[in-house]
Amino acid sequence: MTSCLRILSILVVLSGVLLMLDRASAAPERPNFVIIFADDLGYGDLGCFGHPTIATPRLDRMASEGQRWTSFYVAACVCTPSRAALLTGRLPVRNGMASNRRCVLFPDSLGGLPPSEITLAETLKDVGYATACIGKWHLGHHPQYLPTAQGFDSYFGLPYSNDMDRIATAPPGRISIRQPKVEYFNVPLMRDTKIIERPADQTTLTRRYTDEAIRFIRTNRDKPFFIYLAHSMPHVPLFRSKDFENHSLRGTFGDVVEEIDYNVGRIFDTLKELKLDERTMVVFTSDNGPWLVYNEDGGSAGPLRDGKGSTWEGGMREPTLFWWPGAIRPRVVQGIGSTMDLFTTCTKLAGGRVPDDRVIDGVDLSETLLGEKESPRQTMFYYRGPVLCAVRHGSYKAHFETKSYYNRKKPLKHDPPLLFDLDRDPGERFNMAKQHPEVIAEIKKIVAAHQEKLVMAPCELEKRPPREK
Ligand code: MG
Repeated sequence: MTSCLRILSILVVLSGVLLMLDRASAAPERPNFVIIFADDLGYGDLGCFGHPTIATPRLDRMASEGQRWTSFYVAACVCTPSRAALLTGRLPVRNGMASNRRCVLFPDSLGGLPPSEITLAETLKDVGYATACIGKWHLGHHPQYLPTAQGFDSYFGLPYSNDMDRIATAPPGRISIRQPKVEYFNVPLMRDTKIIERPADQTTLTRRYTDEAIRFIRTNRDKPFFIYLAHSMPHVPLFRSKDFENHSLRGTFGDVVEEIDYNVGRIFDTLKELKLDERTMVVFTSDNGPWLVYNEDGGSAGPLRDGKGSTWEGGMREPTLFWWPGAIRPRVVQGIGSTMDLFTTCTKLAGGRVPDDRVIDGVDLSETLLGEKESPRQTMFYYRGPVLCAVRHGSYKAHFETKSYYNRKKPLKHDPPLLFDLDRDPGERFNMAKQHPEVIAEIKKIVAAHQEKLVMAPCELEKRPPREK
């Protein structure tokens, strides 16, 4: 009887050890990363960020199971520089992707993100990650700038925006955007460095990008991977598949966002099916604010002011979600974060090396994501092209220069700067400059220190062939 008890107690101890070992193997080490980047989706365009008629059940669930960040910023208010900042952890003025004349790359552009920049794909590849870029690239479409030359093992997507390469016979002005047909936009769909379809069938892009991501997850299930999934939608012209036509009360824009939501859900389902959910961090955000000039076809910045192309909050604050079951503590984070921080955070979580031979603007958010700490980021710089228009420090934001979205009016300069308390006044309506000269003085010191050390890179966005006379 005693020996039976002894054997039993040994078995109990052994099973405890085995359980501990099992838990240890499931510890959040070297997670996979899936960064889902929507295009021109506004702060107010998801259910979990308050939209009343766009239904996003899968993203809402991501928010409730993970973290919803309410003060998360991109580093530029338009596509190309915003993407460059996410992938390099650096302000676009540091990597050549800042211009006032041509604010993004176009099909006739000759430049791109300089190969000397170190991308997140490269820091992760260095430590053994499989890397895939899927979707809109917009960091240079010539071979030396494509994703496969910037650390990604593979690429599937459009090399620039879906409204480019408009054919000469398309209806003029905004008609071809408001009533789009696939054939109006001769944009190429690429696999690695080859064009495989032109014009790309844009009604299938959201689904096919997701199919590609799922295939990549299945193929690489046994090793760490990084997927940068940059949807072409809901940038105009708006396209969705047959299944999502008239799906949303919000009209075509809502259909497009609901199709993205559905497809984000397919990725979660795949991760769960393969038991990779507790080993994968998924991030969802957008590259800039809503393109308001397109009225109903553009999104909404919710309570925030203005949209794409502007350094008001609506241009650069994005609806952002983090998800990693068992590792990320579910909560709402109101502290400041930035897409540039994804570079530093993911590189560190992977055990990679953050470059020390250049200025990196990203900070490590992992103690906020995985623990109780508040976000370490205190300051955010708002550039429009090469111009530093505004600075947020703590809850205050000073505007030195303002310009509304894509109108032809000249920017307004402000001296003293406009000052808003974004905690109390996220819509930037009540100028507090007179009440708080000490805050303005503090922010001016931050600007002086920032500009003293800033080395602006040669501009890549303005490189184009000479015009024919
Ligand atoms: Mg965009």
